[in-house]
Amino acid sequence: MTHIENTCIKYEFSRCMKCFRPIKICYCKYIESFETGIKFIFLMHPKEAFKQRTGTGRLAHLTLKQSEIIIGIDFSLNKKLNELLENPNYVPLLLYPDENAWSVQTKIGKKSLKEIIGEKTLLVIVIDATWFFAKKILRLSKNIQKLQKISFNAEYKSQYQFKTQPAEECLSTIESCYYLINELKTANICNNVSAEPLMNIFKRMVSFQIESEKERESSGIQNRYKASRSLKTRKTAQENNVK
Ligand SMILES: [Zn+2]
Repeated sequence: MTHIENTCIKYEFSRCMKCFRPIKICYCKYIESFETGIKFIFLMHPKEAFKQRTGTGRLAHLTLKQSEIIIGIDFSLNKKLNELLENPNYVPLLLYPDENAWSVQTKIGKKSLKEIIGEKTLLVIVIDATWFFAKKILRLSKNIQKLQKISFNAEYKSQYQFKTQPAEECLSTIESCYYLINELKTANICNNVSAEPLMNIFKRMVSFQIESEKERESSGIQNRYKASRSLKTRKTAQENNVK
């Protein structure tokens, strides 16, 4: 076995079990977790669960106290999720764009969203998958189909500087949480805390990936990102989506 092969094996298996990054570049020391007063649930497609390069759901989970990750595709009979959805102490909303989605400004009858939530806790369900798989999860999961959706009041552009992003407006999971928290803060639904730790860790991840690609290019190794992209473009365009 050559020295290079040895290094690769070590690299693959010496992984931080919290952030799933290789131990050498573990992000945990940069994560500043904070309490929002909202419970976030990340429904993670199995393909997303162990993705360390572009998956931001796990970083969002590590940053947001009280949040949880549930891995699956059809969540209809998921015990953990159903217990949360049936818990009368929560007001569950699905973060998903839809023409009938509420925003923080929506009046529901004569009530504001804050009044609807009252003394309860907002439970925000986030599907952490590419659009292609998010639609599949929603199509299969009868329990989350029934949920009222919430979406953004404003339009945001992704800070993701990668070429596989099909459209600027496709936000990563961590950016979605960041913008939603900021909007909820304006409606006094979220604790008055800074959501910047989410954006800080996201920017660190993006700049780290850009640096890694530059290093790879300068050392003459083929850009794995471009290579995987050209393979993916033979599949559907939707699957290219970074979420
Ligand atoms: Zn870590």
